[in-house]
Amino acid sequence: MDASLSPSPDKSSTTPYDAVVVGAGIAGLYMLHRLRQAGLKAICFEAGEGVGGTWYWNRYPGAACDFESLEYSYSFSAELEQDWKWSTRMARQPEILAYLNHVTDRFDLRRDIHFSTRVSAAHFDDSTQLWAIRTDQGDSISARHCVMATGCLSTPKPIEYPGADSFKGRILRTAFWPKESVDFVGLRVGVVGTGSSAIQAIPIIAEQAKHLTVFQRTPNFSVPAGNGPMNPDDERRVKASYADLRAREWDSDVGICARLAPETRRALDVSEQEREAEYEKRWAAGGLYFYCSFVDLLTDKAANETITAFAQKKIREKVKDPVVAERLVPKDYPFGAKRICADTGYYETYNRDNVRLVDVKAEPIREIVPEGLKVGSEIHELEVIIFATGFDAMTGTLLNIDIRGRDGLAFKEHWNEGPRSLYGIMPSGFPNLYITTGPGSPSVLYNMVLGNQYHVDWIMGCIEHLASSGLTTIEAKPEPESAWRDTVNAIGKMTLFGEASSWYMGDNVPGKPRVVLPYLGGFRSYKKICDEEAERGYPSCLIA
Ligand code: FAD
Ligand code: NAP
Repeated sequence: MDASLSPSPDKSSTTPYDAVVVGAGIAGLYMLHRLRQAGLKAICFEAGEGVGGTWYWNRYPGAACDFESLEYSYSFSAELEQDWKWSTRMARQPEILAYLNHVTDRFDLRRDIHFSTRVSAAHFDDSTQLWAIRTDQGDSISARHCVMATGCLSTPKPIEYPGADSFKGRILRTAFWPKESVDFVGLRVGVVGTGSSAIQAIPIIAEQAKHLTVFQRTPNFSVPAGNGPMNPDDERRVKASYADLRAREWDSDVGICARLAPETRRALDVSEQEREAEYEKRWAAGGLYFYCSFVDLLTDKAANETITAFAQKKIREKVKDPVVAERLVPKDYPFGAKRICADTGYYETYNRDNVRLVDVKAEPIREIVPEGLKVGSEIHELEVIIFATGFDAMTGTLLNIDIRGRDGLAFKEHWNEGPRSLYGIMPSGFPNLYITTGPGSPSVLYNMVLGNQYHVDWIMGCIEHLASSGLTTIEAKPEPESAWRDTVNAIGKMTLFGEASSWYMGDNVPGKPRVVLPYLGGFRSYKKICDEEAERGYPSCLIA
């Protein structure tokens, strides 16, 4: 349904809302549903023209999830789980967007969402104990609770080179891809970046374009996605015992278990033969199961070296030109310390005559010129330049909003040296402000539909706890917040994540503090800690 056909939520009401939800992606939609189910008056603001978040904005060719869709989907409604049919194992962007639109309409959420409206400020009013929300459309509303369901990967990095205005061709960005289809036939195309987005798009663009140049700064590890039509037997098997699958996902660290359970053995506790067999099995299964081959791959350097060597060997086997192959093989960081990609024919693309790989670490991009991109002293002539250069991940979107807590405390100041909040959800000094899948939570390292669902349910627990006790505000106490930040950092130091330059550490954005952003202790232990906090009546929070 087109957003313009949906009735506008009533923003003229002077009665405060019980809650405002910022963002209508996977988290925001479920948050709105839960608030409505509880009989609360809620409103949602979404910057995009439609729902879907990530799946609304990222429409580039090849965009798809790299988790099985039977797992990367909501679990809160058994009927929804049974009714929805995925056409492929890992759904492509249009199908995920259709699913999220279906959820929106099925649960009648659209009427409370205000589209094309960006929340610019959220100020806590100490006298009324309400949040005053302002938007770029001039709206001004107040609400008791404010849920920032604004996404971890929702603020694309700007183009970091001068000269974009001078370019005679077309500049595209994977994270703001146009709604209409883009035809590359007969064109000279350049892609900047070799992260997950580029790796999905490159094989498809290479098939259409006259010539494709890929500008690579750091090579990534990519595993075969193994995508294809949904196997009806797999679908029947999962749907026959969905609750059982969900229980295993909730009890795991990564949140994917449908095809292969995460391995609990340590890599060096098995023989080399067994280890290779495990890697081969998981490589063949496709998708991110390979990542879960052994339990200690991201904590033990020697264990990691075995999977790194295996993945390096696979790249060399696929790329015919040994010079190009070596350029594509990551050699200076451990496997998994940068986000693993999943591809369909990515490495094989470099065997095509119309594809060239340019190393822009050795010789950096200087500027965009009218004819194309200048790298060192060479001008690469292009008619289209695609920037697949990633996001100001996990913190950028929140820091773009003017958030002020008690006594005017600026959120930007609170996060000056890196993010801090209790469990990645509640920053201290900001009563009734909640963040979904924020930094300090397992976030991007767990199945993000389920991670968001867990956070929404936990936030609803806080809201219901206040209502049932006749109280007004809940906020993190400063000491437990600091202790949680120390825990996140300490666990981060026990892993190999710090050995790569990655967005997990804030490295991809110049000037961003270098801290580990996600909680690396695994979802299982995280959930136990958060469940206990709620069961014990929120001892780490001030409730008034
Ligand atoms: P988002 O989907 O990012 O939604 C946030 C929404 O908030 C956006 O619509 C944004 O417009 C809106 N917003 C932000 N700021 C404001 C504001 N100030 N005012 C109003 N609205 C605002 N995760 C996985 O687990 N598995 C995958 O396979 C996977 N694939 C991915 C593929 C791509 C291309 C990308 C970019 C990410 C992928 N992710 C994946 C991560 C993905 O972001 C999450 O899975 C999930 O979609 C996040 O949902 P969300 O609701 O938290 O945030
Ligand atoms: P990304 O992983 O951050 O990759 C960005 C790429 O651009 C990197 O290769 C980076 O190189 C390069 N780059 C950044 N700035 C550059 C510059 N100024 N000059 C040259 N190169 C530059 O971003 P993404 O590919 O959009 O993916 C982001 C995240 O979204 C993923 O990690 C994943 O979590 C999610 N995602 C998932 C899927 C999926 O398969 N389901 C698909 C897309 C995205 P450096 O490494 O050197 O910084």
